[in-house]
Amino acid sequence: MKFSPETYRIPDEAMKPFIDAKELWEYLERPKPSSAQVRKIIGKSLDKQRLSLAETADLLNADDPELIEAIKAGARTLKERIYGNRIVLFAPLYIGNKCVNNCTYCGFRTSNKDQQRTTLSDAQITREVEALEDNGQKRLILVYGEHPEYDADFIAHTVKTVYKVKKGNGEIRRVNINAAPLDVEGFRKVKHAGIGTYQVFQETYHPESYARYHPSGPKHDFNWRLTSLDRAMEGGIDDLGIGALFGLYDWRYEVLALIRHTNHFEAVYNIGPHTISFPRIKSAAGVDVSDEYLVDDADFLRLIAILRLAVPYTGMILTAREPVAVRKEAMRYGVSQIDGGTKLELGSYSRSKNALQNLNREQFEINDPRSLNEIIDELLEDGYLPSFCTGCYRVGRTGEHFMEFSVPGFIKRYCTPNAMLTLSEYLLDYAPEDTAQKGWKVIENNLAGIEDKKVGKEVRRRLERIRNGERDLFF
Ligand code: SAM
Ligand code: SF4
Repeated sequence: MKFSPETYRIPDEAMKPFIDAKELWEYLERPKPSSAQVRKIIGKSLDKQRLSLAETADLLNADDPELIEAIKAGARTLKERIYGNRIVLFAPLYIGNKCVNNCTYCGFRTSNKDQQRTTLSDAQITREVEALEDNGQKRLILVYGEHPEYDADFIAHTVKTVYKVKKGNGEIRRVNINAAPLDVEGFRKVKHAGIGTYQVFQETYHPESYARYHPSGPKHDFNWRLTSLDRAMEGGIDDLGIGALFGLYDWRYEVLALIRHTNHFEAVYNIGPHTISFPRIKSAAGVDVSDEYLVDDADFLRLIAILRLAVPYTGMILTAREPVAVRKEAMRYGVSQIDGGTKLELGSYSRSKNALQNLNREQFEINDPRSLNEIIDELLEDGYLPSFCTGCYRVGRTGEHFMEFSVPGFIKRYCTPNAMLTLSEYLLDYAPEDTAQKGWKVIENNLAGIEDKKVGKEVRRRLERIRNGERDLFF
């Protein structure tokens, strides 16, 4: 049966618990794989086939340094083959930090009485979005605590408010949200407000640990959160982002659970999640997370490489929680989206001064405080193609449609040309002269690499139209 978000109803079997800790541990406790087995699994992935749970567990269990290197090399090759050199940029915009939950790792938890609570008014949202547009941003993710004030109507209203803000050539073309789980009706409302991706992280997929880290509030309910993306599907949102917060429980278990969650989507809806996130715990006001499960940089890069191999077609997001060097390295293994110019303090994008972080006004510490332009500049120097593309979502290439097209040819036909077009807008409207020079060179190099002459000619024509003042041209 063809999936149609408007008519879809969740089949009963989808609502059966699909995360079974015992089952996942059984996979992880299998004997270590041989070198030949690991290389065969990497080969399967390089053939762009999804890996099974057992195969992913084998990669997680391969801890011989030589095999870890082989896994990382495989992820690098796959990234180059599928995603090329394109990196999509976005920024988070915190709308409100009131919260009724008590997540022990989060600065916004209700028991943290030192946290200054703010909800942006429409006027403040407008000011923030204008400042973000002035920097060249085109894609935002709105972030909310969980609070009765932040219901579906409120979220929908803030999304619409953001879309309305246009300054000069600036506009936000895609608004994603990271918000607490809603019911089906609530998801329908935010879908109609025009959201792109609905993102929610399970934090930890280990039920007992989950209960400990979320001692009270609606978030205490593991299954309500786990099934939120199924309700989002029923509400018509087929563009979903999953994630786990690394540092709460065994990282190998969490990776396997993310793959299990992905399998659930593919089995029930015939589409996978659009993105996977893998934030690591960072310092936050009054937070004391036990270091038993903290993930070091080496394991972190290893897990990114394994995720890349396990789900070759899913976007992978890495945020400014991570320091510059880790972000740089992670991009080689398959990260396809990063944030730039990130500020977490509510209302701080429109303040001109770049103040130091104050954790009594923010959720956690960030470690890449660079401006959007500094990040773009470095991406260009490293040969990446920074992109603000929002094409697919705007012509309806999401969900199953996106999956059908998710082949390297698709990236060549749509993503790379759209990356060049959106980068050219940035270079003309926002970049300082030296960044612009680097950017046009990167665009020229990428134009030269387009194999299909007809596509190349059309991209050149559109770049010329953008130089002549047109905006928002996409394939
Ligand atoms: N309140 C919503 C919820 O819980 O789903 C929105 C999420 S919160 C504003 C965004 C994400 O930040 C959380 O899902 C969590 O994974 C992450 N987070 C919370 N505390 C963190 C910390 N100390 N370090 C890094 N990430 C953290
Ligand atoms: Fe609230 Fe989300 Fe922070 Fe938990 S992670 S305390 S729900 S803002």
